[in-house]
Amino acid sequence: MEFALSPRLAELKQRAASLTGKIMQFEDECEANNGLPPEAHAVIRDEVLAHGLQAINMPADWGGAGLTILEQVVVQDELGKLTNALWDAVWRPANCLSACTPEQRERYLVPDIEGRRRDAVAITEEHAGSDPSGIRTTATRDGDGYVLNGEKWFVTVGDAADFLIVLAYVRPDNEPTMFLVDKDTPGVSVKRTPRYTHTFVYEHPEFLFQDVRVGQDAVLGRIGEGYDLTRDWFTEERLMIAARTIGAAERALRLAVDWAKEREQGGDVLMNRQLIQGMIADSVTEIATNRAFTHQVAWEFDQGGDRKTLHAKAATAKLAASEASNRIVDRCVQIFGGRGYMRDMPVERLWRELRVDRIWEGTSEIQRLVIANEVGKRGLDDLLSFTAGS
Ligand SMILES: Cc1cc2nc3c(=O)[nH]c(=O)nc-3n(C[C@H](O)[C@H](O)[C@H](O)COP(=O)(O)OP(=O)(O)OC[C@H]3O[C@@H](n4cnc5c(N)ncnc54)[C@H](O)[C@@H]3O)c2cc1C
Repeated sequence: MEFALSPRLAELKQRAASLTGKIMQFEDECEANNGLPPEAHAVIRDEVLAHGLQAINMPADWGGAGLTILEQVVVQDELGKLTNALWDAVWRPANCLSACTPEQRERYLVPDIEGRRRDAVAITEEHAGSDPSGIRTTATRDGDGYVLNGEKWFVTVGDAADFLIVLAYVRPDNEPTMFLVDKDTPGVSVKRTPRYTHTFVYEHPEFLFQDVRVGQDAVLGRIGEGYDLTRDWFTEERLMIAARTIGAAERALRLAVDWAKEREQGGDVLMNRQLIQGMIADSVTEIATNRAFTHQVAWEFDQGGDRKTLHAKAATAKLAASEASNRIVDRCVQIFGGRGYMRDMPVERLWRELRVDRIWEGTSEIQRLVIANEVGKRGLDDLLSFTAGS
């Protein structure tokens, strides 16, 4: 067993930290203006490319950084330190785009990898959240193409994206299928752009699809394959959420410890108060244990373990890390006192921003269902061991 970062991982971590440092300068501007102007996005894009961290989940042959899952986790852990979700400006095309045909790859994926196009994933609807089988968006055959009708909610990056990956039921057999839809296709419109708890570098608009005509070449993967493509995205994305929330918690804790060492009240620094020490010790414990487990599961992904077991392990990592990180940033706000509640303080922003990590890509309750389902079907052995190594 080897736990030290290899020279390759250490170099990647350092490179991701350097990129994070470059992007961090935009946090205050993003918070003040609820987003960034095109010039700032252009600077960030150039930095991402200069650091070689574009599309880290896509093969080098197609222009991506071609990182393993463990390497991606190391990078995401660093990027997670950014507030205002600026980690999302370091684009990573949806994994399901690997199912593109060669023509779709040239039209959508390669420009997406290069940072010239941007995708957004549109699955959730008003009546279909945790249970995507409740979607009502339909695709009706029409000549050699399809006509889409429906509505999608919470489409992250929907403002900056120029194409959407839309889950719809193909009529008449209700086969769940993904479609690639250019945003400027007639019939696609933004219904509403709600405000959320966090200040995110992008928006999460709601989209309407009214008699949207697309060709046969808009089908991603095969007809009926929509859930499989969705599941693959969830599995890896959950692991990346675990990594990012751990990085975020570390940044908050470092700031809180520095503050606790400096802030004097009642004749002594906060760091010497045992109630504060308890908060710091609990946070160290939760960061260290969650980082170790997330790295373990990422390593198991790279060993090519059983996909269903890995699905449950990614759910375990996401559940544990996102819940722990929410507790940690809450403690850090507390250590800062009133200052911790000010929006120009990174701990305040992280406290607001980490809340959604317990909701999206499957709520904490859904992660528990995934884990318990695996226990019921296949027992505890694989979940409690280093499966890939056995
Ligand atoms: C900021 C933001 C960005 C998002 N980005 C995207 C995106 O880019 N693309 C996209 O498609 N979606 C996106 N989502 C949607 C997100 O994935 C859903 O919000 C999430 O899956 C939960 O669905 P829901 O909101 O409909 O809640 P519901 O499914 O209605 O759940 C409500 C509550 O009930 C619980 N619950 C539901 N089912 C069960 C059950 N079987 N057992 C026990 N408890 C249950 C849930 O855990 C939750 O606590 C985003 C959401 C947010 C908030």
